[in-house]
Amino acid sequence: MKDETCIFCKIANGEIPSATVYEDNDFRVILDMNPASKGHALILPKNHYKDVCNLDSTVAAKVLPLAAKIGAAMEKGLGCAGFNLVQNNGTEAGQTVFHFHVHVIPRYQGGPSIAAWEPHAANEKELAETAEKIRTLL
Ligand code: AMP
Ligand code: ZN
Repeated sequence: MKDETCIFCKIANGEIPSATVYEDNDFRVILDMNPASKGHALILPKNHYKDVCNLDSTVAAKVLPLAAKIGAAMEKGLGCAGFNLVQNNGTEAGQTVFHFHVHVIPRYQGGPSIAAWEPHAANEKELAETAEKIRTLL
């Protein structure tokens, strides 16, 4: 299913041109127009899913193998030392385009550095209580 108001539906299905690095029946992989590093790519399903919770299971099963393939090609072709897979769900998590996508972000020796979270130590009680709140809903 496509969403006619969704820019990633239009890009994924070729209605809007993009710097495409890969395409098959299910996905288009494009370069991000505001890259965190050289080669920053986005894996876009051709069908519209708002976020990971709405993703079709058949499509979901293909995403990680594709991300690994893209990352391995980046290491060979761009000379990056590694890569991050990033996938945002919800505004507070940094999602700005509400069509499921996975960022594949090459990481190079010497940078650029990319800010992540500030870790803090959690105590055992907090960990146990927090785990319980999630576990009981699964
Ligand atoms: P997110 O914040 O996880 O929703 O990621 C959306 C990403 O899409 C951002 O990194 C944007 O730079 C990128 N983006 C938005 N519009 C376009 C576009 N037309 N072509 C390429 N990348 C885009
Ligand atoms: Zn869409």
